[in-house]
Amino acid sequence: MDSTADRAPSHLFYQTRQRRPLLERAEGVYMWDASGKRYLDGSSGAMVVNIGHGNPNVLAAMRAQMDKATFGYRLHFETEAAEELARRTALRMPEGLDRIFFVSGGSEAVESCIKLARQYALATGQEQRWKVISRFPSYHGSTLGALALTGTATMTQPFAPMMQEMPKIPAPTCYLDRDNFSDEERGRRYAELLREEILRQGPESVLAFIVEPVGGASTGALVPPDSYLPRIREICDEFGILLIYDEVMTGAGRTGRFLGVDHWPAARPDIMALSKGFAAGYAPLGAMAADGRIVEAVLDAGGFVHGYTYAGNPLACAAGLAVLDELERLDLPANAARRGESLRTALEGLMDRFPFIGDVRGLGLLQAFELVSDRDTMEPLPKELNAHARLVDIAFDKGLIIYSRRTRGGHKGDHFMVCPPLIVEEAQIDELIGLLGDSLEAFAR
Ligand code: PMP
Repeated sequence: MDSTADRAPSHLFYQTRQRRPLLERAEGVYMWDASGKRYLDGSSGAMVVNIGHGNPNVLAAMRAQMDKATFGYRLHFETEAAEELARRTALRMPEGLDRIFFVSGGSEAVESCIKLARQYALATGQEQRWKVISRFPSYHGSTLGALALTGTATMTQPFAPMMQEMPKIPAPTCYLDRDNFSDEERGRRYAELLREEILRQGPESVLAFIVEPVGGASTGALVPPDSYLPRIREICDEFGILLIYDEVMTGAGRTGRFLGVDHWPAARPDIMALSKGFAAGYAPLGAMAADGRIVEAVLDAGGFVHGYTYAGNPLACAAGLAVLDELERLDLPANAARRGESLRTALEGLMDRFPFIGDVRGLGLLQAFELVSDRDTMEPLPKELNAHARLVDIAFDKGLIIYSRRTRGGHKGDHFMVCPPLIVEEAQIDELIGLLGDSLEAFAR
């Protein structure tokens, strides 16, 4: 048995017993541990801290809100912070998604989307519609409802009898395909898999399809061909199925536009989940944005049977509002597009030095690379190498934080997300690539 001294305090029993360094402070794109060691945050936490750490304007706005009130229960009071954040958020949403419902994180946002969709079906006489189709690989959250949509077997299987697994279709992992189709044709073909799945399930039983516009942690910045999402929209319309976008990771400027869907405006969703960069780590905050017609139908039928105690609390909303101000004042989506190009070019440059980098992909500052044993066949590295964990640890030792998972379409592969805060400067990208190059050298030894 472990000695008490070796054991982590009980509140730190996340995945392993390994203790992490104590975080001392964080500013801009850097973080320092208690020993004074500096880290370049190449993953914005978990793609959260989009406006960078320690932003003084956000901290001041939060202090001002704290002086007024830190909590007011939503069934008792409206708050200026929540009303103003809802108004400003709605202005950034695709047309028609003008109702905002606040929550405290990404899983709660996804959960809310599912429950709103279901209550819309009940309100409109479509009781038989309850299946929410999603994709594999995918990640939509850790609560049991969101997990039922998550296409990552290691996360769902342990809970199998406790939740209803939802049907899933393959994500468009075109970079693995060795056929002669154009990207556009592949996009349409992958979208057709939704049509086939709807027919297999019985269209009358299908409620919604949920998708990340650009795949995040589970797929490693998987950008669909331009034909994919517009075709998905058409298929949903054909069968009267709601389209839900999980923009928890892609929202708040990460991909070089305010939302992922802003790259494909014709593929407008009916409901959307937001979190992470939305309050950029300054407070636990997420949101669901929904088409007003859906919300009105649910309210007419008796109200939305759903809610969380902390939802829409003024402190989190004040943080979200100040974050939105900073995103707009500094035009951070544009910076993400610009710096994303540099980062992408530099990552592709690393491919010349390291033949085991099989692919570099992404959009804006949602970039990723994937390691393989053979670039031509895209054969993954052997699982026993534990490459995803090893490279992350090596980089961490060298003072660079990157984010990795070992999942991809059909089989397993090691991919790494490189997603610094959107305020990142050109020189910091050079520094990041220098540290990453050193880490890959050490990994290859
Ligand atoms: N959806 C997506 C696309 C995510 O990336 C995440 C978090 N990685 C979630 C949902 C869940 O968010 P949270 O961890 O805040 O509950």
